[in-house]
Amino acid sequence: MDSIDKTISFIQDTFHTKDFIPLHAPYFGGNEKKYLNETIDSTFVSSVGAFVNKFEKDFAKYTGSKFAVACVNGTNSLHIALILAGVKSEDEVLSQSLTFIATANAISYIGAQSVFIDVDRDTMGMSPKALQSFLEKFGQKREDGFTYNSTTGKKIAACVPMHTFGFPLRIEELAEICKNWNIFLVEDAAESLGSYYKSKHTGTFGRIGVFSFNGNKTITCGGGGALITDDEELAKRAKHLTTQAKIPHAWKFSHDEIGYNYRMPNLNAALACAQLEQLDQILANKRELAEKYKSFFSETDYHFVTELADTKANYWLNALMLPSNEERDEFLRRTNEGGVMTRPIWDLMSSLPMFENFQNDGLENSKWLEERVVNIPSSFRPSNE
Ligand SMILES: *Cc1c(COP(=O)(O)O)cnc(C)c1O
Repeated sequence: MDSIDKTISFIQDTFHTKDFIPLHAPYFGGNEKKYLNETIDSTFVSSVGAFVNKFEKDFAKYTGSKFAVACVNGTNSLHIALILAGVKSEDEVLSQSLTFIATANAISYIGAQSVFIDVDRDTMGMSPKALQSFLEKFGQKREDGFTYNSTTGKKIAACVPMHTFGFPLRIEELAEICKNWNIFLVEDAAESLGSYYKSKHTGTFGRIGVFSFNGNKTITCGGGGALITDDEELAKRAKHLTTQAKIPHAWKFSHDEIGYNYRMPNLNAALACAQLEQLDQILANKRELAEKYKSFFSETDYHFVTELADTKANYWLNALMLPSNEERDEFLRRTNEGGVMTRPIWDLMSSLPMFENFQNDGLENSKWLEERVVNIPSSFRPSNE
């Protein structure tokens, strides 16, 4: 048996099955059906209802932020966050090439362009060193107090780093750099619910943090997202923009700007409330799985990615770094043929036709990781012993 065969049988043993093992399946072990029934009985299934308000309150509390606004999904939450950041069409937004497509798409919805900054190899998230050196090379502070890109003359309106697979990036250093250059920081924390940097929840370092509750995330409500902030004005505006910019009134329809129909429906919020109640249990279960992987892979030549000192990861998707691109391809082929679902990390955004002309800083680590990183099954295990 070589390392790949050993890995397949270890994962089958760990999940107690020889059947197909998905990458990440949702787990519904609590009040999901009860709350859904309550929603239906109340007839408040749509964007007004008690569960939406409850979820926002509970979610803000869980992440330690002052306000949360629930949206229909994480991508829309990012879109709203960027509007709130003041990003305009023709502006630039510093982000990662190594990320899920939603980050880059949301930037494009506004008509702004991404500029791709490299990541650190250990966190797989935006590198403060790379950001600092890009800004020292190309950043130009103008009299209006904002930073412009000297190569394009465009305003750098925001920075959107992403906590890859739930591993916290060096967000404190990054926040400091953004502050120095007066760049609005939005954290794409879609993957990092339950992840902390120095005991502070991810998503609370930026002026806005964004989360997703899609079917494959740590907790899910079918489709859903949220943004969090400590700024009451931003929270109010987020709620306004996500509800068609309707001026609250008992019977009249009045709107004062272009708004969006982005508010999370009560039906989804019912599911979200039930899932949030189980989050700590889900995180503990996933951590236990990660411990098993860690000890197993320490005997192989695969590097199992673990949380760094001073951070706590949610272990949403467990990740391996394989020795080479060839070995990665062989690993992907044989595990998937063997019924153990694995997948490579994303294609770099800078390699996609929509984004290939955008500026990047060379992306040395992003390219290195793109060739080697794979995800392995990471679901909650209901019968873990
Ligand atoms: C899942 C995800 C999103 C978007 O979430 P949706 O709810 O699917 O729209 C955004 N960014 C990252 C990094 C994600 O992983």
